[in-house]
Amino acid sequence: MQVPSQVEYERATSVADALALLARSGPEDLLASPVLGEHFAVFHDAERVIADPIVRNWGTVGGSLCQADPSEDLSAAFAAVRATAVIRGPDGTREVPIREFHVGPYETVVAPGELLVELHMPIRAGAGSAYEKVERRVGDWSVAAAAAVMWLDRDPHPTVSEAGIGLTAVGAQHFVAAEAEQFLRGQPATDASFAQAGQIAAEHCSPAADQRGPVDYKRHLVAELTARALRRAMNRARGQEA
Ligand SMILES: Cc1cc2nc3c(=O)[nH]c(=O)nc-3n(C[C@H](O)[C@H](O)[C@H](O)COP(=O)(O)OP(=O)(O)OC[C@H]3O[C@@H](n4cnc5c(N)ncnc54)[C@H](O)[C@@H]3O)c2cc1C
Repeated sequence: MQVPSQVEYERATSVADALALLARSGPEDLLASPVLGEHFAVFHDAERVIADPIVRNWGTVGGSLCQADPSEDLSAAFAAVRATAVIRGPDGTREVPIREFHVGPYETVVAPGELLVELHMPIRAGAGSAYEKVERRVGDWSVAAAAAVMWLDRDPHPTVSEAGIGLTAVGAQHFVAAEAEQFLRGQPATDASFAQAGQIAAEHCSPAADQRGPVDYKRHLVAELTARALRRAMNRARGQEA
């Protein structure tokens, strides 16, 4: 059972009051952040396919990561960009790479009495990123999804200098397709490389058969969605897609 969290409820008393409230609270929605969209479009892609606006507006980034549901879309996105989690507790603050944050389904390194308070992401010029998800119907949890971030070396031909690949709902350890990332480093930035990276990601994840589909179907989705996310990430890195 999921229980809605406590929220601050503001009742506007006039149009002027409503405008003041909007000015104070409006920009805090993840989707409205132009800075995030400019540097990491993967978060806008992922946020748009999480459930519906009501769930999105109630849910928090911290709750999404700390719930540690294997199907949480943001976990794979943060894993792809190699974020760092800042955790605060009675004994002080510690930093944990996001790829060490989830230790299993519904389990994180956040101890009782601690809170996840910040997420840091390295901004490096020239990155492109994207998120691709297949769901049974609009607003549903993922059958499978892939997040990709890519940096390119451009001379003499575009090659992948570094890539991050996150996978959702398919049993990837720490939400990461590490073998596919390793394969891509130094490869030409072509459809053939992305297809091969997708195959490697599909081979190394561990999806479970359930009401969302059999294992073979999920592996097929991983291969296809990884290749698509990499292609869009490359297009964005080259400034050819918004
Ligand atoms: C109908 C429905 C559909 C959904 N569909 C999707 C979907 O398609 N994709 C998707 O990714 N998600 C989906 N979600 C999940 C949703 O996006 C939220 O991530 C999730 O409900 C957590 O909500 P919350 O932020 O209110 O966290 P809470 O429910 O408040 O917290 C979740 C857990 O994390 C702990 N916690 C919260 N914040 C912190 C913190 N800062 N530090 C330490 N511990 C913390 C809480 O104690 C609790 O154990 C769906 C949820 C619902 C209800």
